[in-house]
Amino acid sequence: MISEALLRQQLARQRLETELLLGVDFIPAGPGRSQPSEPSNASGSEENNGLLQKLEEQFISEFPLCDSLEGATQPVFGEGSDTARLMFIGEAPGAEEDRTGRPFVGTAGEKLDQMITAMGLERSGVYVTNILKAMPPGNRTPTQEEIDSYSPYLIRQIQIVQPEVIVTLGAPASKFILQCSDGIASIRGRWATYETENARIPVMPTFHPAYLLRNYTRDTRQQMWGDLRKVMEVLGLKA
Ligand code: URA
Repeated sequence: MISEALLRQQLARQRLETELLLGVDFIPAGPGRSQPSEPSNASGSEENNGLLQKLEEQFISEFPLCDSLEGATQPVFGEGSDTARLMFIGEAPGAEEDRTGRPFVGTAGEKLDQMITAMGLERSGVYVTNILKAMPPGNRTPTQEEIDSYSPYLIRQIQIVQPEVIVTLGAPASKFILQCSDGIASIRGRWATYETENARIPVMPTFHPAYLLRNYTRDTRQQMWGDLRKVMEVLGLKA
């Protein structure tokens, strides 16, 4: 028998699809759809024996790693389930993330939360992080040196969580994970693979939610939602 919660999710998703076809927004969180805003305990699961927690502690002891990031007020390591099936990787924390110590909590984060909800998932059930774990001055794009310094932490996060799918948000994260120099417009929406020592993980590169907000056209929304639908299909989330 289909549960009421599942039915609600299916109805909400159908509504979303209709709205998208009409060129409307990602579905806002409403009654019956949870929109968790609290950080989950990254050290939580016994399966990983607090490996993420230990990694975060190591990172904090080395923060901010690069002289160029001395202006950041606190580390923004990443958060979510350490057994998440889905991992989102962005570029670097912005001002709101720097203020709170949490990834994707500003306006781009709100949009990402809407997408996660629209996929039928909860934010606490996925893992969200960035390549850089300290805000670059003036929110500028990370330099290659900064990416080189921080990427070992990102790679370790991937190895610990071992998600079934990675979604890279925007050009810097996509280029780093795919190890390519192509523009996001040409790589987004096409499956790639990330190989690490203990896993081969499908990767879906897509737009950064901040880009979506700056280019809020029906086309961009449909492209991005199309990318996320491919992810839902692989994760068996499709209604
Ligand atoms: N943009 C990112 O790439 N990451 C964040 O955490 C916030 C905004």
